[in-house]
Amino acid sequence: MEIDKRLLTLAKDAKEVEKETRKYFQRLKRRVPKTLDITMRDLHEEEFAKTDCLSCANCCKTSSPIFTEKDIQRISKHFKMKEIQFMDQFLERDSDDFYVLQSVPCHFLDEVDNSCTIYDVRPKACSEYPHTNRKKFIQITDLTVKNAEICPATFSIIEKLKKAIPLGGKSSKETKFK
Ligand code: SF4
Ligand code: SF4
Repeated sequence: MEIDKRLLTLAKDAKEVEKETRKYFQRLKRRVPKTLDITMRDLHEEEFAKTDCLSCANCCKTSSPIFTEKDIQRISKHFKMKEIQFMDQFLERDSDDFYVLQSVPCHFLDEVDNSCTIYDVRPKACSEYPHTNRKKFIQITDLTVKNAEICPATFSIIEKLKKAIPLGGKSSKETKFK
């Protein structure tokens, strides 16, 4: 299986522009353009039309989704397990008291072909990841900066956003990213 080559340098690339990105989002928050959510949705769709998540799965390999009560009910039912048993076996509470995986890579990831073995009942957070097309995107810019270190598609979307809505300061044209 081909691996998404962007993964090879993603951590370094994301670190390199992290400060610039945080400043960009700070400026964006001062005056949120009315078109922001539409622009993000378009950039998201454009990026994921050419991203093959099966050649990546870096989110499933390195981070945990949040499991809501409904997720836990649905997934434990899928396994014909008692919810408490499912939680004991796979989940723990994080510092914000959310249920997350006890370990990564995710237990439900098939590491041979990068598929999700519980795809139809996977947590809502997984189906919505990396949230770059969600409404009121401006509320999740901190999370998105973090996700850019994990998700090559998120990284590209942010770099394209900087060009689509330029805000002055050091422009992304001055970075090596196109
Ligand atoms: S449940 Fe599926 S989509 Fe979610 S992290 Fe695990 S393998 Fe990935
Ligand atoms: S959502 Fe991002 S990190 Fe997850 S598999 Fe797709 S490209 Fe990779």
